[in-house]
Amino acid sequence: MYTALYRSHRPEVFDEILGQEHVVKILKNQVASGSVSHAYLFCGTRGTGKTTTARILAKAVNCLSESDRPCGVCEHCIAIKEGNFIDVMEIDAASNNGVENIRELRESVKYPPAAGRKKVYIIDEVHMLSTGAFNALLKTLEEPPEHVMFILATTEPQKLPATILSRCMRLDFKRIPQKVIAQDMAAICAERGVDISDDAARLLASCADGSVRDGLSILDQVLAGGDKYIDREKVLEYVGTTGEEFFIDLTELVSLRKSAKALLLLNDVLTEGKDVKQIMKDWVSHYRSLLITKFVDDAEDMLNMSAENLKRVSEQSRRVSVEEIDYAVTKLSKTINDARWSTNPRVLLELAIVSIASDGGVGEAEFRPAVSKPQRIPETPDRAAAANMNFEAPAPRHTAEKEMKPPEPEHDREILNRSTAPPADVNKGGMLQEESYDSLWHSIFEEGEDNAGSFNLIRSGSRLHHVGDDNFTVVTGSGFTLRYVEQKRPELEKLMEKHMGRPMKLICRLEGDLPSESASDESETEKIAKEAEELLGINIEIE
Ligand SMILES: [Zn+2]
Repeated sequence: MYTALYRSHRPEVFDEILGQEHVVKILKNQVASGSVSHAYLFCGTRGTGKTTTARILAKAVNCLSESDRPCGVCEHCIAIKEGNFIDVMEIDAASNNGVENIRELRESVKYPPAAGRKKVYIIDEVHMLSTGAFNALLKTLEEPPEHVMFILATTEPQKLPATILSRCMRLDFKRIPQKVIAQDMAAICAERGVDISDDAARLLASCADGSVRDGLSILDQVLAGGDKYIDREKVLEYVGTTGEEFFIDLTELVSLRKSAKALLLLNDVLTEGKDVKQIMKDWVSHYRSLLITKFVDDAEDMLNMSAENLKRVSEQSRRVSVEEIDYAVTKLSKTINDARWSTNPRVLLELAIVSIASDGGVGEAEFRPAVSKPQRIPETPDRAAAANMNFEAPAPRHTAEKEMKPPEPEHDREILNRSTAPPADVNKGGMLQEESYDSLWHSIFEEGEDNAGSFNLIRSGSRLHHVGDDNFTVVTGSGFTLRYVEQKRPELEKLMEKHMGRPMKLICRLEGDLPSESASDESETEKIAKEAEELLGINIEIE
């Protein structure tokens, strides 16, 4: 019988676990010193090795070997591997999420292990338990018998009650680096006498997106073809990724606001049988490539791309603004999400194309909202309406940008830094308050679950302007950051509530859109105008 790669290549001992060195180090240490915890929480996205590691840990505490546990070859290790060791129980919380299931578990916890040293309960997708089940589980976690170990695994730790979190030793599983997955793929191919090119292995790894399981299942399909040599083209046949060429053209068309041509181009590749959802994902990757090549000179390592394609992408990146990329990625991410539940994902992508072509990005020039100059995001409905009126007319924005050089990374960083600095006019007599707002704003991120990505962006691109009784006002230097703040609204409100001990509503404003205080901006302008009038002897009107 054929066994899927991800089963036949499942790590059996600690050292075979891929890309989770930090977790392995802790667990090996605890096993060796006999100081294992009675409850673990393994967090991380799918395919990062949580369940595999849980099984290895279960083996380690029951292994018969004297040293280097688990050995992987003793009676107990083999029985656990085959899933028929009486003292190791795996429970899928997605399908056993009721109170009764946990009560049963509590009953069985009382009895000592029948064969091994410890009874190990592995509860997968633990966030799926019902509230009643959580409460029942909590009682067991509070006073666990010496002979019991719980390993809870979850992709969504934020859904777990704090009472559960506080009773477990939490270990976070990272997405596995592409390089590590690519090496693993190459090794598996070598074992089977199959030659795989470097760029094919890199492409496989990039499709796996940090999940060994996903990578192996694609490799499974590719190997099933029976070829003795696998190159990039071969992999592309299986993963159905449409070539970079297509995305360069598609992006060019929407950037030139040629919706009709873009829709026809999409139609062409769909007729060839390409998968519409895959196209959405790959298009996002293309925008990412544009973003990376805009800022990174030597991006070959970061992007899995041939040198020729890289050159073309890099050329295109000079013509597409960061705002356009931001708009398209936000729009496409939402489309991908909506497409999951849609019976007709194609129309969603078509809508996205029209929307990006008519509404995408406001051009490089407007992506420089320095604090001193108030900026406003144009009203979306108006812009959409305006764009619809001259649906096919190429907009001047693109031509204007063609000659524009990509922004220097330093320069943009400077903008972000500047936008965090409080504007001088807000500070009158309130320096201390301003400072404490700043430290409050930064400290709430210390408590955040997710300190990477958009949180970092928010942290550096915004400031806390005001804290009221039941609301708080956050000011951002750019519409770009504003959108991230809006996206993270639930998390930010929750963090603030935790900090203040009462429900807090987020009010988000663009720097310069503040109602009263920034009015002094205007008087400043008036003052300058007056001086100019006096100097030049003419009348200056301020709009
Ligand atoms: Zn063993």
